[in-house]
Amino acid sequence: MVRRNPNMAKLPTAYLFREISRRKKIFMEKNPTVKVISLGIGDTTEPLPPHVMKGLVDGARKLGTRQGFLGYGDEPGFSELREKIAQKMYGGKVDAEEIFVSDGAKPDIGRFQILFGNNVSVAVQDPAYPVYVDSSVIMGQTGGYDNSARRFDNLVYMPCTPENDFFPDLEHTPRTDLIFFCSPNNPTGAVATRDQLRRLVDFARNNNSIIIFDAAYREFISDPELPKTIFEIEGAREVAIELNSFSKLVGFTGVRLGWSIVPNQLKYDDGSSVKHDWNRVVTTIFNGASNVVQYGGLAALDDEGMKEMERLVSYYVENARIIKEALGIIGLKTYGGSNSPYIWVKFEGETSWDAFSRILQQTCIVTTPGSGFGMSAEGYIRFSAFGHRSDIEEAVRRFDKLLPSKN
Ligand code: PLP
Repeated sequence: MVRRNPNMAKLPTAYLFREISRRKKIFMEKNPTVKVISLGIGDTTEPLPPHVMKGLVDGARKLGTRQGFLGYGDEPGFSELREKIAQKMYGGKVDAEEIFVSDGAKPDIGRFQILFGNNVSVAVQDPAYPVYVDSSVIMGQTGGYDNSARRFDNLVYMPCTPENDFFPDLEHTPRTDLIFFCSPNNPTGAVATRDQLRRLVDFARNNNSIIIFDAAYREFISDPELPKTIFEIEGAREVAIELNSFSKLVGFTGVRLGWSIVPNQLKYDDGSSVKHDWNRVVTTIFNGASNVVQYGGLAALDDEGMKEMERLVSYYVENARIIKEALGIIGLKTYGGSNSPYIWVKFEGETSWDAFSRILQQTCIVTTPGSGFGMSAEGYIRFSAFGHRSDIEEAVRRFDKLLPSKN
């Protein structure tokens, strides 16, 4: 028999969304006639837009011809797609050679963990997208917990709450090798301002740390004052990697396409190139994103595809506005929900799971308990704007049934 990787035993028993599905299933078995609406998981619901769809179909057809057939391609992706991402998403601020096309931001997080190995310290926002912590735990980044420093040996939690405007108190954050940072943030919906990102970049520069900046929700930003990429910040090229994804932009959560940017200037302490090693990881354990899907990505970045992307994102932005407004009307204080698909709500005097159960019982709406995203999120609930408009409208009508907690 093979010995189990001991790090696996340190993970929470179930991935958050699996536990939510389990509870939803039990509720539905007990209440078979009610329609349960999900404002829980951050998965897109609307069909692929026609131009993007055509890109995928035409791409697949091309592969069925002698001239168009492609086998293994360049692992970092079609050069035309890398060029188009550089131009359309970054206005030429990054070089196509610094872009690595992938099958999504989540698998890239796993591969970055492999790149940096198990001998690095890691800081994460608290709360945060669970994959940063869980992938770090799988790598072995845990140990004894020091409550005063909110630190599990190699894992540092940076509380992000309304009290600090959802931005970490960097003066009291210990140095780590890596800093995962997500804006617009999942789950809080907070978007870092230019000044905040400047402070983060300065912090990383002073500490010789590397920021892994997750911009998966960047297209939800409509406020021109808010940065869409870390590379809008001076000095970021020496200290930051950016992760991105087509998932929430054009509904590719199942199709799978993303990219990472590793700037030429990013170096290790011995002066060697991080991009060089990233290329080595990508070519060694990843054979590149599907060529059919890359044709879809090319179509998404055509002028017509960009318009479709804008329309699709606006649809979810409007959903977020409807949910946020309705929660405000029943007297709840909300955060996020503009420039972001997530609305973050504090339920005073209740744990997140208690609030989750009460909302499910009283309104038949599935939400996401904040505590699943980190210690600082106890008592919060995340509402997601990904849903059909008719379901969102039905859900907000049901908010009236939400009775105050008995506490
Ligand atoms: N990053 C964040 C912050 C997310 O919320 C998600 C998905 O919900 C991902 C990355 C995963 O993106 P992908 O579908 O490209 O793997």
